[in-house]
Amino acid sequence: MSCPFCAIPAERIIDRNESGFVIRDGFPVSPGHTLIIPHRHIGSFFELSRPERDDLFDLLDQAKLVLDREFKPNAYNIGINDGPAAGQTVPHLHIHLIPRFEGDMADPRGGVRYVIPDKAKYWKDE
Ligand SMILES: [Zn+2]
Ligand SMILES: [Zn+2]
Repeated sequence: MSCPFCAIPAERIIDRNESGFVIRDGFPVSPGHTLIIPHRHIGSFFELSRPERDDLFDLLDQAKLVLDREFKPNAYNIGINDGPAAGQTVPHLHIHLIPRFEGDMADPRGGVRYVIPDKAKYWKDE
């Protein structure tokens, strides 16, 4: 088995608790792009136990505070690609925490709706 998250080098781990750990994404879409990952090799968010969810959300909260301090972003996208049809390429659950900065896209409206670009825009431009 060669799951990149089960075999993560210890030096990449920036925070951890009983249920999971935190790393910076190897191919960040924005400065500080962070991943929250359960220790248990499961594919889906919906397989998490309630205590695991709580622990991962604790890591998410903590990671956000660290990014606030280090990068001072204006906003965040929080996302999970849950299943191959949704774009999941590593079969080990991970929560993306993506810092966003004013002006990093010309028009950021819609955010995660752009997983399906043709349907993302539901508003009319003035
Ligand atoms: Zn794994
Ligand atoms: Zn991913």
